Amino acid sequence: MMHTCPHCGKKTFSPLLKARCGGMSSVGKHCPECGTRCVNGKTSLAVHIALSLTGLILVLYNYFTQTSAAQFLLGGVLPFFLCIVLGFVYDMFFGKLIEAIKRE
Ligand SMILES: [Zn+2]
Repeated sequence: MMHTCPHCGKKTFSPLLKARCGGMSSVGKHCPECGTRCVNGKTSLAVHIALSLTGLILVLYNYFTQTSAAQFLLGGVLPFFLCIVLGFVYDMFFGKLIEAIKRE
């Protein structure tokens, strides 16, 4: 399952390369075919914001409500890292690529 380059329109981005392109504020990765730098688009940004806020809320809620360190790790820290992994997986398989705005 390859992803389409927004500049040349060819399916050149593998899921791993697409995930490593980063968000709209990053420099991005070069298309193997045409060399245009590409990043993940606005839906990826929205998903990352939602996941980051969820992770932050879970960490803060569990920090103030759980009594033991093990409960805090299970209820707050583990879901936080799960949110990071989910964002990476989303970038691998969903959302569109756009051309990078940031200069190299
Ligand atoms: Zn291209």
